[in-house]
Amino acid sequence: MSISPHREKRIIELLQKQGSASIQELAEACGVSAMTIHRDLDKLAKAGLIQKKHGGAALAEPSPNQCAMCGKPILERTIFIVHLESGEQKRACCAHCGLIIQGHAKGVQQSLTADYLRGHILSAGQATYLLDSEMAVCCMPSALTFGSRQDAEKFQKGFGGKIANMREAVEYLRENPKGL
Ligand SMILES: [Zn+2]
Ligand SMILES: [Zn+2]
Repeated sequence: MSISPHREKRIIELLQKQGSASIQELAEACGVSAMTIHRDLDKLAKAGLIQKKHGGAALAEPSPNQCAMCGKPILERTIFIVHLESGEQKRACCAHCGLIIQGHAKGVQQSLTADYLRGHILSAGQATYLLDSEMAVCCMPSALTFGSRQDAEKFQKGFGGKIANMREAVEYLRENPKGL
């Protein structure tokens, strides 16, 4: 038997209101058996919507979708992820914040960034950076990353800015924190 959308909504609403709830409370609120709630919670937990707790459930922690540097929401097109040796990862809204995080973090293993034009993820160390262009999609001075230098140059023709590799981009952001 699949969970009814109505019951799913009711469970989530209750958890949003209270933070957590026992199986018993949920069963009563939904007017079904504890067994049915058990099964519902299994499905909701698999879908990543809730966390099962002893005898009940709580809302799942939202996966961090805010920049660890400035708090802006993270867009797939500009995401920058710093992987640390501890296994932790810090996610940034764009290469601007990402490079700052990378510069301050200890034990950086690898950083990944998104190709602004094509959307795929690539190694930040191998990306071509377009700095301080008029394409100000996120933080200023803007730093867009591309997998190919040609793509970066195409954008530069339209929007100006300065082409750089990662090391040069880090230096640029340090020396021109407000852009030119
Ligand atoms: Zn940011
Ligand atoms: Zn940003």
